[in-house]
Amino acid sequence: METAPLIDPFQRAISYLRVSVTDRCDFRCVYCMSENMTFLPKKELLSLEELDRMCSTFIRLGVEKLRITGGEPLVRRDIMTFLRSMSRHLERGALKELTVSTNGSQLARFADDLYAAGVRRINVSLDTLDEDKFARVTRWGRLPQVMKGIDAALAAGLRVKINTVALKGFNEDELFTLVEWCASRDIDLTFIEVMPMGDLGGEDRIGQYWSLKDLRVELSKQFTLTELSHRTGGPARYVRLEETGQQIGFITPLSHNFCESCNRVRLTCTGELFMCLGQEDNADLRTALRANPDSDAVLEDAIRAAIRLKPKGHDFDYSRQEANGQVSRHMSHTGG
Ligand code: SAM
Ligand code: SF4
Repeated sequence: METAPLIDPFQRAISYLRVSVTDRCDFRCVYCMSENMTFLPKKELLSLEELDRMCSTFIRLGVEKLRITGGEPLVRRDIMTFLRSMSRHLERGALKELTVSTNGSQLARFADDLYAAGVRRINVSLDTLDEDKFARVTRWGRLPQVMKGIDAALAAGLRVKINTVALKGFNEDELFTLVEWCASRDIDLTFIEVMPMGDLGGEDRIGQYWSLKDLRVELSKQFTLTELSHRTGGPARYVRLEETGQQIGFITPLSHNFCESCNRVRLTCTGELFMCLGQEDNADLRTALRANPDSDAVLEDAIRAAIRLKPKGHDFDYSRQEANGQVSRHMSHTGG
């Protein structure tokens, strides 16, 4: 039975669900986690069967795009079983796209399986092409392993988009190298402004923040930038570099606020639904899911009730040179 799509109080249709399948990760990126993170006990996590029920219910209510993220989604045991199971929604046309955000460390192992499960596009995080700097920013990551993963993804036929967090004094000098490296591999590239997520034990947010307005000015010194009008309902905006034909994205939650067209909600690995990345409000869907193992009616009601609470937008603001609107959870908890 088809049901009416999810519409929030600001008349935005919710068609995109991002799901964090684990809070664990094999890296410890400096802007994302502290080195000695305490992770959730495994019993707190939704099981793969529960994740399936949760996602399938959202799809029944009108979600057409699913992004699997984390933590590092590919370190969750048997995650391919879950992805293969989601592909049934792709096959019957209810789901238009199944995507994954990954740090790339496990891609050499999983790229072919991802393609076989119906994944066609993946996002890979990569902030630098320098081995030493990569080890510094990810703490536990090793660049050659990620490079092998990206090669495997391309060979498997996956479209790859690189996500690069713009970090002042860290990758400013690699702007053009990163652009050229992506162009030479026909890989899309999006820059992200660092966001005030989680307490990282004194890590200096303002010091890390490199405004993408400044980054664009740098880019325009070497390239002609043409603004593109297409939107994904998210905070990303795109330009084309006329000299290379490349598309570059900018995710600017801080220097710009694009909440008015937001089409997404985020599910944590414990079944909390966050209606906005930048707000603390959330709904406990795990209790609703577990209320009745034989029917999704309670869960559907809980999802609809949560969507009715989706706020107009976030309150992140660096304009007064303080990290205002900071939220205490880590990005790995909500799923970036
Ligand atoms: N582990 C996967 C990865 O790294 O792509 C998926 C999860 S990760 C939390 C998703 C994205 O969030 C990554 O691109 C990462 O760079 C970004 N991210 C993490 N912490 C951030 C922060 N404080 N500000 C901006 N982006 C952040
Ligand atoms: Fe792990 Fe991704 Fe966070 Fe880095 S950004 S620590 S890879 S979850």
